[in-house]
Amino acid sequence: MFTKPIPGPDLRVNQSLPPDSGAAAQSMVEAAQFFHSRGWLMGTCGNLSVQLHRVPQRILVTPSGKDKSRLDPEDFLLVDERGMSLTGAGRASEELSVHQEIYRLTEATAVFHVHSLSNNLASRIWLEAGHVTFEGVEMIKGIAGKTLHDKVLLPIVANSHDMPALARSVAAAVTSDVPAVLVYQHGIYAWGRDAEAARRHIEIFEFLLQYAVELHRLGLPMQDGQRRGIV
Ligand SMILES: [Zn+2]
Repeated sequence: MFTKPIPGPDLRVNQSLPPDSGAAAQSMVEAAQFFHSRGWLMGTCGNLSVQLHRVPQRILVTPSGKDKSRLDPEDFLLVDERGMSLTGAGRASEELSVHQEIYRLTEATAVFHVHSLSNNLASRIWLEAGHVTFEGVEMIKGIAGKTLHDKVLLPIVANSHDMPALARSVAAAVTSDVPAVLVYQHGIYAWGRDAEAARRHIEIFEFLLQYAVELHRLGLPMQDGQRRGIV
């Protein structure tokens, strides 16, 4: 006998985008274009998200497999705490679970992730140390809460193609001290209290990583021990 299937729960509970989603999407479009212009979002790599609401969780995130230099505000997906898509076509970025761990552990409302030559090189050079150290560099002031006199340790964690494993790996390194985690031969996640801060943190860390790699290539330390050149 034919039995009518029992309808499952309607997961598309909120078909309309929240009013603040337009500005969030636009800020991510602009950030992605800038990151791409710097060679940090080549191919379809990288992903960006903004958490519009913490409870219930509503995250606007880049779609999987899309060229990040050609994003439109309509391309972003609105997802809930289970990663279920509420609006938008396609699949959310595979690395969404990493973003969700960062949102769970911090006050961030934006998480941006880029792959660059400098961040990949730095992750190899300093893997054994477990972090990249930045000290005595003016650009450190661009990191929320930091001054020129602060030493910043950017943690490096193992990479994995298993997303729950990668999310755990990143989560274990998240602190309130430094708003970023570097993944071995993969890329950097940086976050901030808003999209502007997350973008600034990506720019600052990319500068610092490029500088650190160049210093290493020249055989120079990040800081010479006597704090020369700082009054
Ligand atoms: Zn990635």
